[in-house]
Amino acid sequence: MNAPTQPRLRRVVIAGGGTAGWMAAAAIANTLGDVVDLTLVESEAIGTVGVGEATIPPLVTFNRIVNLDEADFMRATQATFKLGILFDGWKNGHDRYFHSFGLTGRDHWSAGFQHFWLSGLQRGHDRPYDDYCLELVAALDGKFAHLPDNRMNYAYHLDSTLYAKLLRTLAEKNGTKRVEGRIAQVDLDGESGNITALELESGQRIEGDLFLDCTGFRALLIEGALHAGFDDWTHWLPCDSAIAVQTENVGPPPPYTRSIAHDAGWQWRIPLQHRTGNGLVYCSRYLDQESALERLLGNIEGDMRTKPNMLRFTTGARRRQWYRNCVAIGLSGGFMEPLESTSIHLIQRAVLRLIRMMPLTHISARDVAEFNDQQFTDMEQIRDFLILHYKATDRRDSAFWRQCATMDIPDTLQQKIELFRETGRVFRKNEELFAENSWVQVMMGQGIMPQSHHPIAEKLPDEELDRLLSGLRDDVRRTVGSLPPHGEYVSRYCGAK
Ligand code: FAD
Repeated sequence: MNAPTQPRLRRVVIAGGGTAGWMAAAAIANTLGDVVDLTLVESEAIGTVGVGEATIPPLVTFNRIVNLDEADFMRATQATFKLGILFDGWKNGHDRYFHSFGLTGRDHWSAGFQHFWLSGLQRGHDRPYDDYCLELVAALDGKFAHLPDNRMNYAYHLDSTLYAKLLRTLAEKNGTKRVEGRIAQVDLDGESGNITALELESGQRIEGDLFLDCTGFRALLIEGALHAGFDDWTHWLPCDSAIAVQTENVGPPPPYTRSIAHDAGWQWRIPLQHRTGNGLVYCSRYLDQESALERLLGNIEGDMRTKPNMLRFTTGARRRQWYRNCVAIGLSGGFMEPLESTSIHLIQRAVLRLIRMMPLTHISARDVAEFNDQQFTDMEQIRDFLILHYKATDRRDSAFWRQCATMDIPDTLQQKIELFRETGRVFRKNEELFAENSWVQVMMGQGIMPQSHHPIAEKLPDEELDRLLSGLRDDVRRTVGSLPPHGEYVSRYCGAK
């Protein structure tokens, strides 16, 4: 057997050291540290965006890929467990519903559990859909434990600054070189248009073969130097501003994020071990900054630990996420509000995708096309899911909600909503992040009730359906009854070493 070809694209340069930069560095160094030279440039003077605390379950896998012990990770990032999101006031201002991780009830291969539950409703059963979901009932009871066979599907609330710090330690241990300094210029090759080097204010020049743009909203390489283009989605997701503030904890941390609808946006509450993260996401067309701040500060619990952090953003996606020899990862690739905690996940997807497509001797145009197609599809699917929360509402109490309720939506989302309304069916395409359970919970939570269900549910005689439904409910209740309070479990789990 011949010796493997020596890689020519050896030098990978990461611009930016926020969550995106250090997640990329940790994963690439851990997987390919021996075959690529990794350099990360970041500027302490510029700093990071400093928000991003709620995650979704695939982060558990990412942490395993970079060899993070879970208890160590939770201690280092002051993390708590998250079982889903409690939405307050999204449907009509007074309602609440829960979007949980995990499954509800038990599916048949031909039809999701909602079909059996709907058949039960018609036959006189009156227990809510929520009663059949372990993660949901546990969350609202404030309970958590790891269960055998990963029966409890969970994510984390974490301090993203501490997470980046932890990942930095791993990445440096696996050979990543960190350079401190401000990038002043991006050098391009006159012929190919590829990036050849980053020039720092200090005069240092960092040459590379492949560049990852992790410079956040600045998008210094992908847009500043390469003009990859941006699709603006503000007409579907009109919020463009946020204010974040940290407060002392009041009471034990619940194992879920709260999303409280306001008349021009919504507010998050994210419990960590040592503090609570709060923020208001709002549309500046309908709420000025001063009123937004007043609104936020009027709705927090506990003393403030930080000054309010004001942020502006444009919702949308970089048209080409990989362009020439540059890949945008993190906020440089686009941004959608944190309503379903998807940004850190998009970083994870991009990093793992890039590792799968890491070039050896040259960048394949086919890899680039594939990467862009997959990444953009992820973003469009998440976009549709977020729009659903705004569109499917009975709220008409403010100009903001009236705009959301009457806006045109993408055809892809229209099809999903109408299909569910008519038939109760949801189909998952192209490894879509949000599976049937998520869509069903949010659609029903926002008031979309199917008019029909699958005939398979009618096959069950009344007694069998009764047995199925009560058996599932009892199992959920019994299991939740055996779980410890979430706060106690976290203290024990993180303290045990
Ligand atoms: P940044 O954190 O901005 O990092 C950029 C890096 O580039 C920094 O190191 C900076 O110093 C460096 N840099 C920039 N310019 C230069 C230069 N000229 N020279 C050298 N270095 C430079 N995500 C979630 O998953 N869950 C959430 O709950 C969540 N909440 C959010 C709330 C809000 C209001 C916002 C705005 C975002 C939220 N996000 C959330 C998104 C999340 O914060 C980001 O996806 C994540 O932090 C990644 O950011 P980043 O690393 O791309 O950018």
